[in-house]
Amino acid sequence: MKNVLTIAGSDSCGGAGIQADLKTFSAHGVYGMSVITAVTAQNTQGVFAVEDISAELIKKQIEAIYDDIKVDAVKIGMVSKIETITTISETLQRYYVKNIVVDPVMISKSGYHLLQPEAKTALINNLLPLATVVTPNLMEAEVITGVEIKNIENMKKAALLIHKMGPQYILIKGGHLEDEATDLLYDGDDFYYYPSPRIQTKNTHGTGCTLSSAIASNLARGLSINLAIEKAKEYITIAIQNSFSIGKGVGPTHHFH
Ligand code: PLP
Repeated sequence: MKNVLTIAGSDSCGGAGIQADLKTFSAHGVYGMSVITAVTAQNTQGVFAVEDISAELIKKQIEAIYDDIKVDAVKIGMVSKIETITTISETLQRYYVKNIVVDPVMISKSGYHLLQPEAKTALINNLLPLATVVTPNLMEAEVITGVEIKNIENMKKAALLIHKMGPQYILIKGGHLEDEATDLLYDGDDFYYYPSPRIQTKNTHGTGCTLSSAIASNLARGLSINLAIEKAKEYITIAIQNSFSIGKGVGPTHHFH
């Protein structure tokens, strides 16, 4: 059995965050563990409140796991604020940590700032250098680089800039491109393209969380980065095809076995 850890926020309605991550791990046949950074009160219509877990308790959760258990991959999601980010970075660096997937979560689809704007620089300086792969969507890549992204050429330019910030691989997700949904992977030398059909549905809550967890699961299972991403794309595409409504707003994707 491979063990995968998510360091992220709790989503009370179960479509994103820790809950999506653990469901994705199970669907991939890996054992899931969690370090909770924040608890959100949310449903399909929005995020109504957030309480951050103290840096001390985040540190203790990470230590409890790494002091005892072999972790084959870790995914980092919602990190809220500067202190949370520096604590995660400092604590992880005390251990032998491999296969780190950083999903630079910033704003929810419903418009809530899951990362405080002033924590952007801390995320760039403290988490990107640790990342095996970082998975920004177009908006996050724009915030990280300052490059306006409208097409694949802009995505390539942003990927080159993000690579200089320290991650080994950069996956810029093209789900918000106008006429195509091509993701772009950059490994410092070459670009790889992952086109996918655009699926018409409003139920896309937690897609970013699910994709990054699927990549972490695949890396834990020993897949190469290219294959890990290819398989994760297939997984999220089918999960979006099987998405469903559970409330009045944006519903979740389906985490099938
Ligand atoms: N809630 C939590 C805890 C998250 O980590 C995220 C995204 O990463 C979201 C909500 C946002 O989900 P979405 O924008 O897909 O609705």
